[in-house]
Amino acid sequence: MTNKVIPYGKQSISQDDIDAVIDVLKSDWLTQGPKVPAFEQAIADYCGVNFACATNSATSALHIACLALGVGESDIVWTSPISFVASANCALYCGAKVDFVDIDLDTGNMSPSALEQKLISAKKIDSLPKVVIPVHLAGQSCDMQAIYQLATKYDFKIIEDASHAIGAKYLDKPVGNCEFSDICVFSFHPVKIITSAEGGMAVTNSKKLDKKMKRLRSHGITNNPNEMTESSHGPWYYQQLELGFNYRMTELQAALGLSQLKQLDSFVRTRNDMAKKYNRAFANSNIVHLTQSNYCYSSYHLYIVRLTHSGIAEHKSVITSMREQEIIAHLHYIPIHLQPYYQELGFSEGDFPNAETYYKQAVTIPLHPTMTADEQQFVINTLIGLV
Ligand SMILES: *Cc1c(COP(=O)(O)O)cnc(C)c1O
Repeated sequence: MTNKVIPYGKQSISQDDIDAVIDVLKSDWLTQGPKVPAFEQAIADYCGVNFACATNSATSALHIACLALGVGESDIVWTSPISFVASANCALYCGAKVDFVDIDLDTGNMSPSALEQKLISAKKIDSLPKVVIPVHLAGQSCDMQAIYQLATKYDFKIIEDASHAIGAKYLDKPVGNCEFSDICVFSFHPVKIITSAEGGMAVTNSKKLDKKMKRLRSHGITNNPNEMTESSHGPWYYQQLELGFNYRMTELQAALGLSQLKQLDSFVRTRNDMAKKYNRAFANSNIVHLTQSNYCYSSYHLYIVRLTHSGIAEHKSVITSMREQEIIAHLHYIPIHLQPYYQELGFSEGDFPNAETYYKQAVTIPLHPTMTADEQQFVINTLIGLV
């Protein structure tokens, strides 16, 4: 039927995207020129948020977001165990402790009721988190209103890991407007919704947080005389005020991201149309897709199903059999707390039962705008034939 390998996700690059990058190569700036601020402004406008700070990855953005919120050695950060390791690693980079909040099996997202239970227990032993990082799995927003209410009550900050969710909506407003968070982070890795090859962005409504993140992404250095500890020595002068990093995005990346942004809404529409086709095809089978809440419009970074009736061996054989037919089925994610590095930190099997059940059932099947209708039908027929 088809001989082409069908990846689970893939970038879609137009001639306009290519031209935009070539224009930068011919310009005076490969880095620290006009494209990065233009991309930041365009993302801020798109999301309806005041400030945007571009970085060389979402991982870097998560790191400086934690630092800007003051996360340090005596602090605790909570996130979801069903995410990419970067959602948790960012807290460890700051010397903080990490813990996890179990998921809601139907959506795969952090469960607000599990969060509340954990907060009640943590309060008793004086170990409340400084920051909670909800992850919008597959592009569907977490229940941010519920999480925000808990943040007000238990006094923690919120960083949304929206690496999957640019172009998504929550309560009819763009994810990234930071109505229910302090900072929201996007990824532009090629497998995500839009790409800058590598790249990330941290958006916020706080001028103070934005300024802090922009300084941290460039060595902790300022060129602004108003921020200096003494008057400027001259036009060459700058000051390093804190320990920062080189987390800057290049002009090439920003130009690609800016050009890709023009197609964001159409990419997300296509992803939603394809997801609907999958939903219909699996409606009368024991293939269960993640529940979509009616207050969310997902960007469908991933299409994830759960094989709730199969055993572990069958679950594994479905993924390997699809791969034998050149359909690169995948699994997002291995629970972070079960990674060897995290087990060394003291986590073990049984800590987050829903996340572990999810791991035994979840399958990511291909979904991306460059996939043809025939390829999607082949994926449907193959998966239905295997369960
Ligand atoms: C991809 C991803 C990241 C990391 O993004 P990079 O841009 O590759 O650093 C972080 N969190 C989640 C949930 C992701 O999917």
